[in-house]
Amino acid sequence: MTLAKKLNDIDAKKTKRNPCAYMEMYNSLTPEDRKALDAAWSKGYSANEVLMALRSEGIKSSNEAIRRHRLGACPCQEKK
Ligand SMILES: [Zn+2]
Repeated sequence: MTLAKKLNDIDAKKTKRNPCAYMEMYNSLTPEDRKALDAAWSKGYSANEVLMALRSEGIKSSNEAIRRHRLGACPCQEKK
């Protein structure tokens, strides 16, 4: 990473307000886990089922974060 990129990243983090907790969690997953998580939603798993699976793997998330993201009420979807 270049110094310029690093400094820009700091700025981006500061201006990023109220990030989507779901996407923060999602972005921290391995590509394999992301795929599995996407698949779980398309299979119609409930937020509770997914949340329990996440928690059993020590991944922190919340019903509220999932609900907001899936309803499109989170900041990451406002921009799209
Ligand atoms: Zn979101």
